[in-house]
Amino acid sequence: MSNIATTCVQGGYVPGDGEPRQLPIYQNTTWKYDTSEHMGRLFDLEESGYFYTRLQNPTNDAVAAKIAQLEGGSAAMLTSSGMAANFLAIFNIACAGDHVVASSAIYGGTYNLLAHTMKRMGLTCTFVDPHCTDEELDAAFEPNTKLVFGETIANPALAVLDIERFAAAAHAHGVPLMVDNTFPTPVLCRPFEWGADIVTHSTTKYMDGHAAAVGGAIVDSGHFDWNAHADKFPGLTTPDESYHGVIYTERFGLEGAFITKATSQLMRDLGPIQSPQNAFITNLGLESLHARMPIHAANALAVAQHLTNHPNVAWVRHPSLKGDADYELACKYLPNGSCGVVSFGVAGGRAAAEAFMKKLKVAQIATHVADAHTCVLHPASATHRQMNDDELRACGIGPDQVRLSCGIEDVNDLIADLDQALA
Ligand code: PLP
Repeated sequence: MSNIATTCVQGGYVPGDGEPRQLPIYQNTTWKYDTSEHMGRLFDLEESGYFYTRLQNPTNDAVAAKIAQLEGGSAAMLTSSGMAANFLAIFNIACAGDHVVASSAIYGGTYNLLAHTMKRMGLTCTFVDPHCTDEELDAAFEPNTKLVFGETIANPALAVLDIERFAAAAHAHGVPLMVDNTFPTPVLCRPFEWGADIVTHSTTKYMDGHAAAVGGAIVDSGHFDWNAHADKFPGLTTPDESYHGVIYTERFGLEGAFITKATSQLMRDLGPIQSPQNAFITNLGLESLHARMPIHAANALAVAQHLTNHPNVAWVRHPSLKGDADYELACKYLPNGSCGVVSFGVAGGRAAAEAFMKKLKVAQIATHVADAHTCVLHPASATHRQMNDDELRACGIGPDQVRLSCGIEDVNDLIADLDQALA
């Protein structure tokens, strides 16, 4: 498909003559066949076709195809949530006895997944500061490392990943770079163009964009040569005895092996499928993603610039803000804007931040980010309220810190709301 705006609107589903213009919701579990032999061929992956929604559903497939086109990937699949996407993507090539190198600046849920839950499954992880030196990054690899993981823009740290540098390190060690591209979306950054191999998404965020549907997606670039490092990835390059001995790279090529294995093996056995209803809602969001993202990013930058000059604001963080620690990286990877999220500190600390939150009228207090409504969170009095100021600082969150997710309302109303609450 052509340009990204056209793909947002029309990608993935092309109605035929006399067919519905909007993507139909296939709200069914199963498909009917005339013979058992026909269905058998589907189970053996010899023929493509639908039989059970946990494995494939036409509504989900159309939305996954649109996301694959947006990212410039070869194949994609939907999952029930962003966490499910990250788990399946990692577990597809790394399991007990394996090791992962991950940026330490990632979403807390993904950090827990790698540091604790997957550790209980026998997988270890070394976390590296995204700003570490090349030598420190290189030293994090082990002989059993199977992938490198990072976020294009970290939630909530707002650190920008140097994708080219991390991809080069991963490839030098014969493993892929996996990037969670939730915050910029392919409208503002396409990690495959910088060397990433697998992209994941919490579609719950900007892709849905209306706080209406939880979901996730995994996209494969189709570029990583699993066969060149066959000893590291036996799950893709040797027979899968649970699927009649299929060798995924042989049968589905480099373009299809990763997603076919994740679907036919992990989705089959673990089951975190996105409901077709949610896929439909996600698709409605995707139809305006190209129109919304520039507004989110412009609103956030204008708010960040305004807050920088505000006497009652101690500090401001937004990657596209001149002077930000990652401004140079944002200029390189996110030249058209980064995302809608801004972090800042209210002068006066925890008590002042709590008072500020109570006065907001336009920004809604919520644990969410990345939808059309502006929402705001003061971690010290909400998600992290059990911690004292020292404990908060130890996990990188200031007692004064506010995370603001700029929606697509009029920016003058957002600034006026912040000003009256900061006064
Ligand atoms: N990745 C990032 C960058 C996120 O911000 C989140 C959630 O906030 C997730 C993954 C998890 O997504 P979900 O909440 O859809 O499971």
